[in-house]
Amino acid sequence: MKAIAVQPGAGGPDVVSRPVPEPAPGEALVRIHRVGVDGTDYEVIEGTHGGVPDGDDRLVLGHEAVGVVEDPNGTGLEAGQYVVPTVRRPPPGVETNDYFERGDPDMAPEGEYVERGIVGAHGFMAEYVTSPAAYLVPIPDELAPWGFLVEPISITEKAIEHARASRSAFDWRPESALVLGTGALGLLTAAMFTETLGYERVYCLGRKDRPHPTIDIVERLGATYVDSRETPVDEVAAAYEPMDVVYEATGHATHAFESIDALAPNGVAALLGVPTDWTFEIDGGRLHRDLVLSNKALVGSVNSNRGHFEAAIDTLAALPDWLLESIVTGIYGLDEIERAFPSATAPAATTDGGSGVGPDDDTTIKTAVEFMPI
Ligand code: NAP
Ligand code: BGC
Ligand code: ZN
Repeated sequence: MKAIAVQPGAGGPDVVSRPVPEPAPGEALVRIHRVGVDGTDYEVIEGTHGGVPDGDDRLVLGHEAVGVVEDPNGTGLEAGQYVVPTVRRPPPGVETNDYFERGDPDMAPEGEYVERGIVGAHGFMAEYVTSPAAYLVPIPDELAPWGFLVEPISITEKAIEHARASRSAFDWRPESALVLGTGALGLLTAAMFTETLGYERVYCLGRKDRPHPTIDIVERLGATYVDSRETPVDEVAAAYEPMDVVYEATGHATHAFESIDALAPNGVAALLGVPTDWTFEIDGGRLHRDLVLSNKALVGSVNSNRGHFEAAIDTLAALPDWLLESIVTGIYGLDEIERAFPSATAPAATTDGGSGVGPDDDTTIKTAVEFMPI
């Protein structure tokens, strides 16, 4: 079968041949339909995040997948059923641990998990994958074409759950939210704030010139576009309003600290970005004082669990088609993966013919690779 693999830090992804995997007892065989590409995939390609499985020099990419059960293999799933796989698995040689037992693999510390397609385990960008049935979340047939958006939506389901939990000791009534970043995660989250979470005033910060499709999406949602070049994050409160929630999806490390200034008293900022090391100066005393005297909270959040995937399927069903069609700017077959990864460099070495490099035209928001049409 064909798969998309990368040698992290050594060039772009490429199409490779791999044997069709055999499901072990308790595992189902899934034929992959589509797999999304996100900012993390580029971090993996560049070699700044994640890593190959032990003993391998390449990683099969892909953690945002939807597929159809090809062989249930006695797991109780049904052949023909669409499923979305979760990302984390116990480390090799370990069947389970407390975090997986409790259904909280997203809270496991480093070393107590691998992430398929990101760190230590091959991902879902392959014609077939196997997975224990417990990590396969059924999705209604009619949502399957957009099923690769369930994983990124689940990331926000978790982050918002934790942000709310940090405010659960008092009668918190948030009305305003600022999303940092107009990538796919930022735009999906802005849409969740306006469409499903019921926030009254939503702002989305980017660095694009008008006209730009991301700004059109923000405005069609009824949200306000904030240009970070004119209004840096720490000036948003003065220029617009102090925010009850800030959701950081830029990976721009100063934003974590500038978010404190953007918050209203009693507000909470959820940090999602995974930046590389960067040393810069901040007035730590002022920010520390403000966090304390204004009862503000900063919450880091990574990954998501099965419950978040289930909530994300409901959210996906509630998001308007125009939004999904605008965010997903391209779905490409294996013969044009350079268009699915427009920001990646050329593959280090080609195996099955090579893929070449595509230009990043700056209007790409989110792409997906299609392994099998529905
Ligand atoms: P993405 O497509 O790369 O989006 C990042 C966006 O942030 C881009 O639109 C980028 O703008 C914008 N940005 C970066 N610096 C900025 C600045 N200084 N001012 C304004 N905008 C800025 O990535 P994504 O897939 O949406 O993911 C967003 C971040 O979340 C990434 O860091 C990713 O690693 C992280 N992530 C974390 C989790 C988790 O579980 N914690 C899950 C998924 C993703 P340009 O387009 O102009 O560069
Ligand atoms: C994935 C998460 C993962 C995180 C850190 C994100 O892009 O969506 O599932 O936990 O990266 O590797
Ligand atoms: Zn991701």
